[in-house]
Amino acid sequence: MFFDLISQCVLCGRLAESGLCRHCHLELECHCALSGPLCRCALPGPGLEPGALCGRCLDRPPPFTASYCAWVYGFPLDRLLNAYKHQGRLTVERALETLTRAQPLPWPEADLICPLPAHWRRRWWRGFDQAERLAVALGRRWRRPVVPLLTRTRATHHQQGSGRAERVRNLRHAFRADSHARGRRVLLVDDVMTTGASARAAARALGEAGAKEVRVWALARALDARR
Ligand SMILES: [Zn+2]
Ligand SMILES: [Zn+2]
Repeated sequence: MFFDLISQCVLCGRLAESGLCRHCHLELECHCALSGPLCRCALPGPGLEPGALCGRCLDRPPPFTASYCAWVYGFPLDRLLNAYKHQGRLTVERALETLTRAQPLPWPEADLICPLPAHWRRRWWRGFDQAERLAVALGRRWRRPVVPLLTRTRATHHQQGSGRAERVRNLRHAFRADSHARGRRVLLVDDVMTTGASARAAARALGEAGAKEVRVWALARALDARR
């Protein structure tokens, strides 16, 4: 059974050496490649000049100086990321490996890689932290140390019924950064950047701990979550 899973494509079940068959890899490249001029928050904007900010970032500039996402979070990549829950971890990780293999270190000056820690509930559900696994794989490939500088603080306020401003205020204190961030150029790694609110909160915490510069790398960017 385990051997069967190893040799199958995560998405279609065809035979595949790396967890993702060539057909699905191509399909993913057609549907999910993120290109064109992107905002600092990695959202593409029609007519956005290179280096320009989207409306939301003009309002509230992100506390990170750049972000890098190669893929749009949509079909079939969403299925692949969700497959962690249902399929063998190794198989899905091999598929993700395939997707990130072609990506060079986007920021050669980065001193270290720091995973954006998942909410404990998400971690508990999966039994591991997806962003952490990605960070380790990337750190090995890019020859950068992976340093978990961030911890999630316990949520003390109830999110229920609170407005956006309140949620942002709660999230502001969602992370605590280790003092080893001081003076370092930190590449923050996450699996999916949804609204970007967590990345903002994490980057802010790193900045407050004295990080010299923070940039964000995420495997995929959700485009329909512009809140
Ligand atoms: Zn396939
Ligand atoms: Zn933006």
